Amino acid sequence: MNNKPVRVRFAPSPTGPLHAGGVRTALYNYLFARQQGGQMLLRIEDTDQNRYVPGAEEYILEALQWLGITIDEGPQQGGPHAPYRQSERKEMYREYAERLVAEGKAYYAFDTAEELDAMRKRLEAAKVAAAQYNAITRMEMTNSLTLSAEETKSRLESGEAYVIRMKIMPKEDIRFNDLIRGWVVVHSSQIDDKVLLKSDGMPTYHLANIVDDHLMGITHVIRGEEWLPSAPLHVLLYRYLGWESTMPQFAHLPLLLKPDGNGKLSKRDADLGGFPIFPLEWTDPNTGDKAKGFREEGYFADATANFLALLGWNAGTEQELFNMEELIAAFSFERVHKAGARFDIQKANWFNQQYLKNLDDARLIAQAKPLFEKQKINVTDEQVAQIVFLLKDRVHFVKEIVSESSFLFNTPETYDQELVLKKWDEQAVSAISGFKDSLVAFEGEFTAHNIKENLAATMETLGIKMGKIMQALRLALTGEGHGPDLMVTMEILGKDEVITRLDNALTRLPAQIRLA
Ligand code: GLU
Repeated sequence: MNNKPVRVRFAPSPTGPLHAGGVRTALYNYLFARQQGGQMLLRIEDTDQNRYVPGAEEYILEALQWLGITIDEGPQQGGPHAPYRQSERKEMYREYAERLVAEGKAYYAFDTAEELDAMRKRLEAAKVAAAQYNAITRMEMTNSLTLSAEETKSRLESGEAYVIRMKIMPKEDIRFNDLIRGWVVVHSSQIDDKVLLKSDGMPTYHLANIVDDHLMGITHVIRGEEWLPSAPLHVLLYRYLGWESTMPQFAHLPLLLKPDGNGKLSKRDADLGGFPIFPLEWTDPNTGDKAKGFREEGYFADATANFLALLGWNAGTEQELFNMEELIAAFSFERVHKAGARFDIQKANWFNQQYLKNLDDARLIAQAKPLFEKQKINVTDEQVAQIVFLLKDRVHFVKEIVSESSFLFNTPETYDQELVLKKWDEQAVSAISGFKDSLVAFEGEFTAHNIKENLAATMETLGIKMGKIMQALRLALTGEGHGPDLMVTMEILGKDEVITRLDNALTRLPAQIRLA
């Protein structure tokens, strides 16, 4: 183990929007780097030009920024190891591949696509489990191990297409201690002769990733479980390049699973469930396919980060609400699970609700006001404040403060039939008309408190229990059986509107009952 200052990297490929798993990887890298007083790098792994998607890099930057994941070195920030985009580092990688060839740890391979295909078919016909280029099969193929030195040289000089493959030694044990999974031991016979340099001169992911992690002084590779099968190959590459003593430590994070826990989370699950799995909205530039974003769906950035942090990690206590500082302090690899983490959008909604409840009213009001305006609902700051007070504990999203308050702006046209038949009886009629009369005569300030006193006094006089008529009153005022605090609701509606609504109910409901 070494005591070098911690340097971690988030190394996405710009092949589309960053999904929740990718964001969580970035987040854990960030938490660990900040906790250790280390550095966090962003490296764009864009060596696979066929999979490059325009806009994806910008998307990644914006998503990290939204969540408050700050980067110390990267394409935007620059740094001592610039450039941080692999396509701009293309020339650097060849040297290492050639060095491995010179040392007998890699070789040139000239096989055409047809020849590779024929090998695959041959092996399949012979029922060889893994059809691959390896210590046995490479001796039957067209490469610098089977061709003479002159033949190889002349093929290279004539400009024939070739790749450089790693020459995996057949009898090596590869072991490394994953910070989450413990010891991983693999035998080299399990690994095929992976291509390191492609025929277009670009490195493969494996070569570029190892060369860059080495050159950039990365101390910890924190990434998704899907890279675990590649890790033994990476360890071998460090060994072959003579860098094993300074090799980073690995931490492979658990997969994100479908909401029901069966299988890997996919965009299809999100589309079917109507929930986001991406931080920001995304429209695929090639297909026009759209994906929802946490931001646009109304999740707070800090609630989203909190939710993602707990997908695969917990503090070992009951605490679930963590701001970024608290996450940085509490994070540890020992408490990252090995098993996949179920992506439960209800939990994300719960987090959002908690953050909404804890948000101070002034900020909530400032966020809600423009949403009312967007819906062309005219409200004063004071009204928004009242509505926020009324609904704050009942909603998960700021936008619900608008949707859930529509009953305040629209006098009911219809009334819940079942409830009408159940609750609109003679007693209700006399209670409500008595209450209405008391309001007409009422001259004081129309506050929730005074309204309640008024109602209580009226019911006392009529000899009717308050509890008996509350639902009928709500029905008369809103048309429905459930809703927020009725006294505050009446205060917001104002005296005139309350009287109008009570009058409406008194005249309309008898007819509704007759027709039933
Ligand atoms: N470019 C890889 C990805 O897209 C990086 C994997 C790694 O972190 O090594 O996930």
